[in-house]
Amino acid sequence: MINIPAKNMGKKCPCGGGKYANCCGPFHTGTKLPRTAEQLMRSRYSAFARNLVEYIAATWHPSTRPEQLELSDNPVWLQLQIIASGSQGNRGYVHFIAYFAAEDGIAEMEEESEFIREQGRWWYLNAISVEH
Ligand SMILES: [Zn+2]
Repeated sequence: MINIPAKNMGKKCPCGGGKYANCCGPFHTGTKLPRTAEQLMRSRYSAFARNLVEYIAATWHPSTRPEQLELSDNPVWLQLQIIASGSQGNRGYVHFIAYFAAEDGIAEMEEESEFIREQGRWWYLNAISVEH
């Protein structure tokens, strides 16, 4: 789906899951489809980290996808921490904290994302609130 320079494939995956070629890389290029909601979430985080707007759009369920998607205010993403993930039937969730560079240091975004599987393919549906 997306052309990734070969030199990037040997680097570490932004999501922290190891080598990019063995982690989110094949999802970004379209060689493989994520088999779990967590794999899809990780690959979307990595796509944000690499500014792969096409991948973010392509994995967003059509019912909730914004008409215009642009990453002009996309921060520098530093790290992903998965708190919990799971699925029940064709619904999946991932609770995570994503760390990014802010003017005054490191900021974090905590979210629980909801995913849906249709015809064997996972889609990002929306973010649901996280109770503290
Ligand atoms: Zn990854």
